[in-house]
Amino acid sequence: MYVEIAVCLPLSRSFVYKLTDPVEIGSRVVVPFRKHEEDGFVVGLRKDAPAGFEIQSILKVVDPQPLIGPDVFKLCRWISDYYLAPFGEVLKAALPPGITPKHVARNVEAPPAARTPRSDDRLLTTDQLSALFAIQETPGFHTVLLHGVTGSGKTEVYLRAAQHFLGQGKSTLILVPEIGLTPQLTQRFSERFPGMTAILHSSLTKRQRIDEWLRIRSGSIPIVIGTRSAVFAPLDNIGLIVVDEEHETTFKQEELPRYNGRDTAVMRAKFAGCAAVLGSATPSMESFRNAEAKKYTYVPMATRVEDRSMPAVEIVNMRDEYSGQGKPVLFSKRLLDAAAERLERREQTMILLNRRGFAAFLLCRKCGLTFTCTSCSVAMTFHKGIGRLLCHYCGFSKKPPSRCPDCNSEYIHYVGEGTERIEADLKALFPDAAVARIDRDTMRHLRDYQRILGDFRAGNIDIVVGTQMIAKGHDFPNVTLVGVVAADAALALPDFRAAERTFQLLTQVAGRSGRGSQPGEVIIQSYFPDHYAFQLATTHRFEDFYAREARYRKAMFYPPFASLAGIMVLDRDAGAAARLARKVSDFLDSVRNDSIRILGPAPAPLERLKQIYRHQLLLKSSSRPALHDALHRLQQHLEEQKIGPTKVIVDVDPISLL
Ligand code: ADP
Ligand code: ZN
Ligand code: ZN
Repeated sequence: MYVEIAVCLPLSRSFVYKLTDPVEIGSRVVVPFRKHEEDGFVVGLRKDAPAGFEIQSILKVVDPQPLIGPDVFKLCRWISDYYLAPFGEVLKAALPPGITPKHVARNVEAPPAARTPRSDDRLLTTDQLSALFAIQETPGFHTVLLHGVTGSGKTEVYLRAAQHFLGQGKSTLILVPEIGLTPQLTQRFSERFPGMTAILHSSLTKRQRIDEWLRIRSGSIPIVIGTRSAVFAPLDNIGLIVVDEEHETTFKQEELPRYNGRDTAVMRAKFAGCAAVLGSATPSMESFRNAEAKKYTYVPMATRVEDRSMPAVEIVNMRDEYSGQGKPVLFSKRLLDAAAERLERREQTMILLNRRGFAAFLLCRKCGLTFTCTSCSVAMTFHKGIGRLLCHYCGFSKKPPSRCPDCNSEYIHYVGEGTERIEADLKALFPDAAVARIDRDTMRHLRDYQRILGDFRAGNIDIVVGTQMIAKGHDFPNVTLVGVVAADAALALPDFRAAERTFQLLTQVAGRSGRGSQPGEVIIQSYFPDHYAFQLATTHRFEDFYAREARYRKAMFYPPFASLAGIMVLDRDAGAAARLARKVSDFLDSVRNDSIRILGPAPAPLERLKQIYRHQLLLKSSSRPALHDALHRLQQHLEEQKIGPTKVIVDVDPISLL
């Protein structure tokens, strides 16, 4: 017999091999390939071999019974095709790393005794009832966009819907942007469905991950919560797939195979013929557009449970603050007064600044030199705790110089601030307050994070300073003030989604305030207070923001009104990168039809990263099939030229354009 094998290498085509043992589609094998032994997956069975080739034999069948079921196999094929990702690599990503047939053989778990979910008999709001109706009463595949302001009761809707499907013997898959950032969601699911919930998070060991995967596969765990790769969870008979905080960029995998977990989840629901729910307080432009085009059922949840009021949002113009005080200041008087009031009333405050470290960069005041990383074209950030300059892209660090290496001047200036600095200043300003910081420097482990959040909840911390990590899904009833420092930072990025990101971040962080019985207040410090992202976030007017942003996206021909692909060309040599980018561009130009526009090639905004030069092209098209056609031709062309994905990266529906 002959089989088609997708090898686990960055190659788009499959190869034909001979074998004698029986196998099934989806089985793992080891094959001889270009003088090496490579892992691969059986992706097709055939009676005959293509003529004119020498056909080699498979060396070993790893899993006679495939670990990948038909649904997930189909999903992987779709990913491979849509994202131009090598099929073998996608299939590999669908399995827990290191799983062997021995693990599978040892793990024969008996089906569980019937367990019952804990019921919650609180009455649902009318919004929650309409959401459940939309999810449960439409049979087969359909997608619901659940647009609910923070605190409107979305999580409760997920819980009840999961319970409904459980009653029909069906399972539920829930994707979250990051497990650590959604402790409440996972906790509520584990409490409501004790012994029935598996949580796939990044702190699991390899072995734990394999065990969880096998438990799910055995059918004894009907509810799975995980990050984007959980979209491959071996669940059978799915009734519901939820993507919480669907607008989050972490659903996009930025390495091979590059896929978006959210969109892949909708495809999985389609293959499974089940309901998909995308939930967010600030839906992505893409999902809102799909709702507008009636591809998704739109369910708004506009009010908070028990009619708690939305926080009052106020913008402080930092230019006025500057001229008033005659010097740049970190905190406006308004924010400091408000924080002092909270301390007096024993209420809590959160301060967000989306940059870690102490100072953003070092500048020589005499010659203007900034201190960039030796491997990347970015400024190094000063971290006072470790007393070093740190590159946030490659991790390289060095001691800050006391004199300028160029002009020998000693006037080295620390410019811009990070969370470390804000924390230090707040401690100095409020010596009696307990101030804590949450960012990637202080939160090395999930348990650090849980500890600080626990302390904050218990009221042992008055002020929490943090990066966007604090903006997400938490529910702290005693937080009545949220301050945002340097809210403009994201707007300055060369990214067409800059306004969307800013709006989302501000809306999310504002949602952290006033979750309890006390009304909340939000103070945003900005140098561009007139920008529509600020204005509309202050009034919680998503539809207005969408309309405004949609005009810009249409005019500029950007998603969701165009299909987009990014192509990144990489080389250690700047000239070689530029030349190859030009060649790619010429090739695409020769195969594209009129629906496709090519931007570039040009050096990427982050021109050099980890010693590699980066040049990029953007392809925009009004026709998804035309765009895919051009990309598939490019992929074939590159493979013929033996140019691999370390040189040219194709990114369909790119999120990061840096
Ligand atoms: P979201 O996920 O939209 O932020 P949640 O589902 O977490 O909202 O609900 C916010 C708060 O309101 C939670 O403390 C939750 O327990 C509570 N809650 C949700 N639904 C109801 C309801 N129908 N009646 C009373 N309280 C509710
Ligand atoms: Zn200098
Ligand atoms: Zn670097």
